[in-house]
Parts: sequence; structure tokens; C-alpha cells
Amino acid sequence: MPDMGLCKECNEPWSMEQGQYDWFLSEGKEKGLTLPKRCPECRKKGKIRRQAGPSLSDRFLNLLDSYEREDIGPSQFYDALHNLIEELRQFEQRVSKGKGHHDKRKDSEPARQ
Ligand SMILES: [Zn+2]
Repeated sequence: MPDMGLCKECNEPWSMEQGQYDWFLSEGKEKGLTLPKRCPECRKKGKIRRQAGPSLSDRFLNLLDSYEREDIGPSQFYDALHNLIEELRQFEQRVSKGKGHHDKRKDSEPARQ
């Protein structure tokens, strides 16, 4: 796993999952995101703890980090934020669909009336 140096919050060395690291250097970079400076634990302690999945919430926090550090400008920030919000919407739809699907399964059991 790539060594990410020291976390800017707790000062502990941390490393990122290879898959996540690759994402940041490819898709994330295209979206104007930079590698996070905080370890997963510290990012988890952040305010964004909704069940949007670790990647979405991490990316959101990272986007805020990038903007605060002025690594990205306002237009990049809003573009990336818009993308994340769109993904959140899709995630929400998947979740609600998933629930619906679950209920349907029960309904599809042989009816005993
Ligand atoms: Zn930390």
C-alpha cells in the first residue's frame, strides 16, 4: 500500500489502499481532487458520516480539504461537488431501490390467502 506520510490531524503515518490511491491518481485527478492528507480514522471522525459509503464520504472530505488548501479553484470545487452530489443521488436511488427489491422478494413468495 502506498505510504501517505503523516496525517495532518493526528500526525501518525498512514497508508492508503492501493485501489483508492489509483483512483485518486486517475479519476480523482480528472475531477480536480488531490490525495488526502488525513488518515482514514481522522477522516472518519469528520462530519460526513452518512452511509454514502467510504469512498464517497472520503472524496467529499478530500474535496473540502483541497478547496481549503486552495489546491483547486472555486469552479473546480463546484464541478467536483456537483459530481459528488450526483453520485450521492444515484447512491440514494440504489439504496431505496435495494429496499424496494427486498420487499418485493417477500411479496414474491407464494401467496397464502
Ligand atoms: Zn489521523
